[in-house]
Amino acid sequence: MNILFIGAHPDDLEILCGGTIAKCVGEGHDVWMAVATNGNVGSPTLSKAEIGAIRKEEATAASKALGAKGLIWLDEDDEFLFDDLRTRMKFVDAARQAQADIIVTHNPNDYHTDHIACSKLATDARILSAVRLIETDRAHLPKTPELFYMDSVAGIQFLPQFYVDISGTFQTKVEALLCHKSQDQWLRSIFNQSITEIIRIQSAFRGLQVGVSFAEAFLAPTYWPKQAISLPFLSP
Ligand SMILES: [Zn+2]
Repeated sequence: MNILFIGAHPDDLEILCGGTIAKCVGEGHDVWMAVATNGNVGSPTLSKAEIGAIRKEEATAASKALGAKGLIWLDEDDEFLFDDLRTRMKFVDAARQAQADIIVTHNPNDYHTDHIACSKLATDARILSAVRLIETDRAHLPKTPELFYMDSVAGIQFLPQFYVDISGTFQTKVEALLCHKSQDQWLRSIFNQSITEIIRIQSAFRGLQVGVSFAEAFLAPTYWPKQAISLPFLSP
């Protein structure tokens, strides 16, 4: 299967579903990672251009650490992701580039405006990506992809329906996250502790809920038509 993970910022996918990405890759699926914004305000000292370039390098390294087939860099300005025509078409084209059978993105109920916009854009692009007369650089998909929402940071306001056991790929998740070196101090100032400690706690907590060492949590939105649940490795 082709699985497209779409995050708003260069480190969101690693934080919220890096273990699942590595597990899907390990089981032979083609995984694409798309990043909607370029992270160009994520520094207390560097210019937008400087930090944007660094964050693209870090995201590329992290996608390689997870074994993704490709990184799709959508290059919108950090903190200014909007659901408009131009951006929606970028998301549609990303789904087509990945030939997505499954799209995984942020939960719509989230603390950050870019996460909420990304969730809306990916949710809407899912349907449009399979419509022939909606034209982008690439041909329409043969079938509407399935859609899943990943956990929120710290699991707040997120009631999981599915879990992926990431006990075997948790270390790879940590290594991918550590590729985002420029964010260490920045995230520490935002969250008041290291991001690796936060993901260890969250992954262990989700693991506790299903009886494994580490897990990541997901939702399937209940839209019509009801989709088949075929994201690999989900266990109730
Ligand atoms: Zn984010």
